[in-house]
Amino acid sequence: MFDLHTHHARCGHAAGTLEDYVQEAIRKGLPVLGISDHSPYFFSREDHPYPQLAMAITEFDAYIEEAVRLKRAYEERIELLIGVESDIFSDQIDLYGRKYVQYPIDYVIGSIHFLSSAAIMESLDFNTAAEEQQQFAVQRYVEAMVLGIESQWVQIVGHLDGFKRGYSGFRNLLSPYIDGILKRMADRGVAMEINTNGMQHACREWYPSNDVIERALFHGVQITFGSDAHHPDRIASDWEQVRETLLAMGCKRMVIYKQRKPHFVDL
Ligand SMILES: [Zn+2]
Ligand SMILES: [Zn+2]
Repeated sequence: MFDLHTHHARCGHAAGTLEDYVQEAIRKGLPVLGISDHSPYFFSREDHPYPQLAMAITEFDAYIEEAVRLKRAYEERIELLIGVESDIFSDQIDLYGRKYVQYPIDYVIGSIHFLSSAAIMESLDFNTAAEEQQQFAVQRYVEAMVLGIESQWVQIVGHLDGFKRGYSGFRNLLSPYIDGILKRMADRGVAMEINTNGMQHACREWYPSNDVIERALFHGVQITFGSDAHHPDRIASDWEQVRETLLAMGCKRMVIYKQRKPHFVDL
């Protein structure tokens, strides 16, 4: 059992310290815990433009230093992997890559939360948008994801169909692009997480949906697991159900990353 996708108080919308997550993971018996708080907005002129969304730019060093310290302090009891959940912005790919290479990071989860670095918090409302606007938005979503997959600094695609959280029809909008995305991931060795946080939201599904997981396995994409916990209680939530689902689909192993290199874990 492991969990590569967890947050903590630095991002401004999660509860608990890093150490709280480490201790809860030990209590739940996880041999491996990955921490992956939200990346700062490295391109911003302000140090902390959105305190409720992500840590300050100047806080990133302290985040990594604390993680390194905890990794050593707890190494007898749990293997702590140091990650980050990074936004993918089409116009900021190189900047983010130059940042991450400077740190002792085990993996980067590349996620799309907003379609543009210039319009954080101003995402299209799919529920009221015209079909043309929806199509345009989904194309931008796919373009950003492909840039992330090709970037060389993304090891894992986060919540691949995450926009279904606010609009369940997003699944269908994304569907024509899925095979193309998954083929690129397989070619590049970029993994897909099964993110169980969707169960907390109106869509009541994991990210991505089961049909996408089946297509990913068909294309040979490596799979990993993340609860996307914003509270220590959610660490590894639905792990057993995900494991059983994958085994039923014929998948026998998942991937984790250490110093950006894949390591396989039998299910
Ligand atoms: Zn978050
Ligand atoms: Zn996310």
